[in-house]
Amino acid sequence: MAEKIIQYFPDSKLYKFNRTDISQIWNSHRFIIFIMATGIAVRSIAPFIKDKKNDTAVLSIDEEGKYIIPIIGGHLKGANELAKTLAKFLNSTPFITTASDLNNLPALDLWIKRCSLKVKNPEILSKIMSKLIDNKNLMLFMENSVQIPLLNCFQLTENISEADIVITNKISKGDKLILVPTNLFIGIGLHEWITEEKIERGIKEALNRNGFEFKAVQAIATIDKKSTYPALLSFCKKYGLKLYSYTSEELNSITTVSHSDIVYKSVGVSSVSEQACLLASQGKLIIAKQILKDMTVAVAEGIFSVRGKLYIVGTGPGNLNSITPQAVKALRNSELIMGYKTYIGHIKSLIEDKQVLAYSMTDEVKRAKKAINEALNGKIVSLISGGDPGVYGMAGIILEIVAKNNVELEIEIIPGISALNACSAISGAPIMNDFAVLSLSDRLTPWNVIEKRIDKSAEADFVIVLYNPKSTARQDHLTRAKEIILKYRTNTTPVAIVRGATRDEQSIVLTTLEKMDEHSVDMQTTVIIGNSKSFIYKNWLITPRGYEAKYEREYKLGSSSMG
Ligand code: SAH
Repeated sequence: MAEKIIQYFPDSKLYKFNRTDISQIWNSHRFIIFIMATGIAVRSIAPFIKDKKNDTAVLSIDEEGKYIIPIIGGHLKGANELAKTLAKFLNSTPFITTASDLNNLPALDLWIKRCSLKVKNPEILSKIMSKLIDNKNLMLFMENSVQIPLLNCFQLTENISEADIVITNKISKGDKLILVPTNLFIGIGLHEWITEEKIERGIKEALNRNGFEFKAVQAIATIDKKSTYPALLSFCKKYGLKLYSYTSEELNSITTVSHSDIVYKSVGVSSVSEQACLLASQGKLIIAKQILKDMTVAVAEGIFSVRGKLYIVGTGPGNLNSITPQAVKALRNSELIMGYKTYIGHIKSLIEDKQVLAYSMTDEVKRAKKAINEALNGKIVSLISGGDPGVYGMAGIILEIVAKNNVELEIEIIPGISALNACSAISGAPIMNDFAVLSLSDRLTPWNVIEKRIDKSAEADFVIVLYNPKSTARQDHLTRAKEIILKYRTNTTPVAIVRGATRDEQSIVLTTLEKMDEHSVDMQTTVIIGNSKSFIYKNWLITPRGYEAKYEREYKLGSSSMG
């Protein structure tokens, strides 16, 4: 193990362990890595430990290199960082136990990332970190156009020179940590023959002359006629900038700009660059129109705030084993978790440390609106939906509200295992051929429409999957469904009734169409009705895919290979 580590750090020195030797190597090295039990390491260094500023960083690692533990000097002396890099090299697990890593207390780097601020001088970061650890606070200067949640350890100052951290879109120098908010919007008017290089140079020079950072640019805005010029598109792509394009009517809604008769005659607006950047930023003009060769540039500044996000997370049928890693990741990444209380209960152990809002079943609209508003206010929200959010779940209502209100919000829908997947697997292979999925709840769909759909599905010989088979208000839905289906299918058509699939209380009944409404069925139950070809074998409900007709001879085990 020591040789391996030396391979990675060629200027390190290998000592054979002898407790009395520690006095000789203490303070003459930046790091001491003990390849042995942590207990022995701790006892050996105990007499020498004084304070975190002067002590050598100490780590321990087991002989096989499975685990690396920074014992002292985690932050200040870099033992945590060493453990992490070494772990990558040795393919082992670093055990980081310092408070800021564990509790995100003053985790500056995470905060910067969460706010989407760009770090101009990352080399200063570790110096600022140790200052934070020593002083427990940092002086922060922030432009008025920046509105973000602050860490408790910040003390605001109006005086840039005494600040440790400066949040600004202006060009700034010095030994401070400079964080750049992306709140500049470039309005641009241009000739068709302009090159990408000229666009880049023109924008950079205009910003530079006026003391603004190019890194602070969030988007480019122009008139629709110009927004397809390849040079402009490729410039936006190069820097990952959004491109907003507006019609002349939209641009003319901004009237507080300079006016050019030539521009007005040619494209029907007063000033493409100024109007476009003002419209995109919803803010104020900070660089008035600059007339350059083949282009005009103007810059507006918007309010910079933390952006929220809304995940609509499918949490599966109710067992933690049936939730996807992608869903777990979204939940872990969220600040607020919302959902129907039963579903919240299923994932409780994953969200112990989160803010949670649990709702009763019929509060969907209230829940959806609240989730959207929280995300619009800058929170990362997970709205959970049992099964799959796109199957009688929360995805539809969210997108309907968003479409109706034309809301600008980042939304990600995480799929989940739907009840039909879980119930099908438990009962065999019932939905192997074309199937129709129906909900028997008439809360949002009129009952006559539901009856018509049952009728048509039965007539077309679809396997039928029934969600919400019974409600407390109407007990006879399942019997009505049976009567309709019996018009086209025999009494003995096989049926699976699965309750609480994947959960502790899971139960399954295999029965027939004639008897399906004699069993207890509730809102945790899904009913699968076979088609005219479905059959039961032992405990399985099987709907033939159709292979047998095609490969009849090959189906017999032993007579021919099945592949
Ligand atoms: N979005 C969910 C469905 C919501 S509608 C999904 O994709 O599964 C609620 C209905 O789903 C219930 O009335 C029941 O019919 C069905 N359901 C949900 N979870 C179930 C489970 N674990 N076992 C059986 N049926 C379930």
